[in-house]
Amino acid sequence: MPIIRQLPPNLVNQIAAGEVIERPASVVKELLENSVDAGAQRIELLIEKGGTERIRVSDDGCGMSAEQLPLAVTSHATSKLPDDESLFHVGTLGFRGEALASIASVSHMTIRSRPADAAEGAELRIRGGIIDPVAPCGCPTGTAIEIRNLFFNTPVRRRFLKTPQTERGHIVEAFTRLALANPRIHMVLTNGEKVVYDLPPTERWADRIEAFFGGEVSDSLISLESDDGQIRISGYACDPAVSRGNNRMQYLFLNGRFIRDRSLQHALGESYRGLLMSGRFPIAFLRMQIPPEMVDVNVHPCKLEVRFTDGGRIYSRVLQTLRHKFLSTDMTMRVGPGG
Ligand code: ADP
Ligand code: MG
Repeated sequence: MPIIRQLPPNLVNQIAAGEVIERPASVVKELLENSVDAGAQRIELLIEKGGTERIRVSDDGCGMSAEQLPLAVTSHATSKLPDDESLFHVGTLGFRGEALASIASVSHMTIRSRPADAAEGAELRIRGGIIDPVAPCGCPTGTAIEIRNLFFNTPVRRRFLKTPQTERGHIVEAFTRLALANPRIHMVLTNGEKVVYDLPPTERWADRIEAFFGGEVSDSLISLESDDGQIRISGYACDPAVSRGNNRMQYLFLNGRFIRDRSLQHALGESYRGLLMSGRFPIAFLRMQIPPEMVDVNVHPCKLEVRFTDGGRIYSRVLQTLRHKFLSTDMTMRVGPGG
């Protein structure tokens, strides 16, 4: 008879990491989201060799005290659900308390952190889930987390990594999504020695869109706005003269989170019906705010997909918002000041 055994925490974390941490870009996504949740005004991402060698995210957010540091890398430990009810109206990007523990179990991680009111910072090192004692260190207010040797103890995962260029592409996409969702945060991406993006904070979403996609896209943005009392939609759709051969330039943000949603992408396509040739896809940047109780973000470990309680209603809101705008616009309209 086989013996049933309880798995040690470290193995549990490695298994969890298999779900959430697929590649360097997943690490980047989790670290950047933590910095946003920490209230950072400036976030810097540094990568080497497509993140396979080194990933470092530093922020000027709330920081963590020396006593809290070991908890940050403990699984199912989070500061973002103060009570059990808050799971049903999550306002932060994180809440599962799993990311740092998962990443730490499959890499060499160093965290340096200091809350604003602490006299000095604290440093924590973890190798493959083995935690060293916390040591004092000098560091600025905020948090810097460095990951080296990702997947060093999970050779199968490591073998699945693509070339540094491919991994870098995924990282840039993760950075883009987060920087688009948070135009008020100063965001910097450095690849090796080279500063790829240095994006100052802005109130104009179109500025940030232009920083990524250039004037051709930003000059053809048509601004949108709608509010039915519960579902608020704002953002831009692109003039149909500027389209793409795939749907990758459809950036949907739900309550501050980048999401992929087939149904809403379908709504986008429908709203352009008759305006685009077949095989062409619209470019759009939509921010949707809906009451948290109308959406479940806890259906997917990466929270990339969400489940709406009334998907049909959101579908038709998106469709109507665009259709209504297109009917009242001659398609050469451009974004005005302050858009
Ligand atoms: P989650 O984000 O779901 O809470 P994580 O494993 O990503 O889980 O992080 C665990 C905890 O560590 C967070 O709840 C937060 O309290 C703390 N933390 C992580 N990153 C940062 C950061 N950059 N600044 C301040 N606190 C952080
Ligand atoms: Mg997190």
